[in-house]
Amino acid sequence: MGYVFRTPEQEMAVDGLRRYLDAEIEPIVRQYRDTFIAREKMAEITRGLTQYGLVSGVVSAQHGGMGIGWLTHLMLFEELAYTSSDLSTVVLVNTGGASLIELLAPVHLRERYLPGLIAGDLFISIGISEPDVGSNVAEVKARARKDGDHYIINGEKTWITNGAYSDVLICTCRTSDDPKRGLTHFLLDRREHPYEVREIHKIALNSQSTTQIFLSDVRVPATNMIGHEGDALKNTLTLFERARIHVGAQSLGISRRALDESVRYSQTRRQHGKRIAGHQLISAMLAEMATRVDASRLLLQRAAAMIDAGIRCDMEAAMAKYFATEAAVTIARQGVQIHGGNGVTTEFLVEKLAREAIMIPIPDGTTEIQKLIIGRALTGISAL
Ligand SMILES: Cc1cc2nc3c(=O)[nH]c(=O)nc-3n(C[C@H](O)[C@H](O)[C@H](O)COP(=O)(O)OP(=O)(O)OC[C@H]3O[C@@H](n4cnc5c(N)ncnc54)[C@H](O)[C@@H]3O)c2cc1C
Repeated sequence: MGYVFRTPEQEMAVDGLRRYLDAEIEPIVRQYRDTFIAREKMAEITRGLTQYGLVSGVVSAQHGGMGIGWLTHLMLFEELAYTSSDLSTVVLVNTGGASLIELLAPVHLRERYLPGLIAGDLFISIGISEPDVGSNVAEVKARARKDGDHYIINGEKTWITNGAYSDVLICTCRTSDDPKRGLTHFLLDRREHPYEVREIHKIALNSQSTTQIFLSDVRVPATNMIGHEGDALKNTLTLFERARIHVGAQSLGISRRALDESVRYSQTRRQHGKRIAGHQLISAMLAEMATRVDASRLLLQRAAAMIDAGIRCDMEAAMAKYFATEAAVTIARQGVQIHGGNGVTTEFLVEKLAREAIMIPIPDGTTEIQKLIIGRALTGISAL
């Protein structure tokens, strides 16, 4: 369904990954279900996935990646998300981090960290959010104070994906009080510039790491700056374009899985003398789910194609993220409904999918923020 725009090469790449995920990764995901996957095991998984173009795909061949572009990468990423929201969360942040390093880091940092990220050996975290800074990214409080040829960083980050695994943290810090040019990105190497990490327990996605990060007098060389001083807000907005289509694709994976599980269940479960797929209200629910799945994919792939074409797509990425993540909440709920009582037991996957779906409209700009971005693009007037 919905795959008419794939080239033969894309078809082959997706099929190869699908076979690998079904054979090698699905058993691991089932084994761990809601329990934490330790770093070594996670690295074994990311090393396997990178062979198929995940993370490595968006990095150019010139810098050691596969250079397959964002659209093809997104197709692969959807497959991973279909198998596991946890693993796709890890890959999402490693992909965003690798891309940021390729585009903006000085050569010495790019040469040091990009190969490990591409190989799946290294993990990266991106630290923007803080206890008092969520939707209002411009108000970051963590301070980087200049001290000779170093900066001293103090502050607290929260909700940081990959925190426990991270070898590297790209940290958004305040370097001045200028409202537009007050933020700067620094790369922290966990061994050389230690930061404290504390795990956060959530309703789902507990097989991977989401953390608080504490920065206390962390001394970082000025040469670890990513981009120029004062550019972090502008660069974060570019990063959001890419991150949002990935969060949207994550929810598409959840939606497609909930649909497949529900189709199968409805074909075998019998009530009132027939299979429940034969009841019109169940059939209508499946039709709504399938239509939302395909509409999500079309919106997401349009935004990815725009990024590949070098066209700015803040509004299109916001539409795709908003629609696909909210669709996943609806679809996962319908999936539970179709399963009846079985849908709320841990015996059936839809229970887990529903818990995951409810989280996805929050990261990388909530649904409300996406709507405000779309409204601003339409009217030229910001309601933020
Ligand atoms: C699983 C997960 C992983 C994450 N990973 C990372 C990560 O790796 N790195 C990182 O930096 N952050 C990460 N985040 C943080 C995420 O980006 C924030 O949670 C998100 O931006 C929302 O911020 P908040 O939670 O502080 O909510 P708030 O900003 O406090 O929002 C609370 C509510 O108010 C609404 N709201 C806020 N402002 C407005 C407004 N102007 N108009 C209307 N409504 C508004 C919001 O939509 C929301 O409904 C992650 C979050 C989650 C849940």
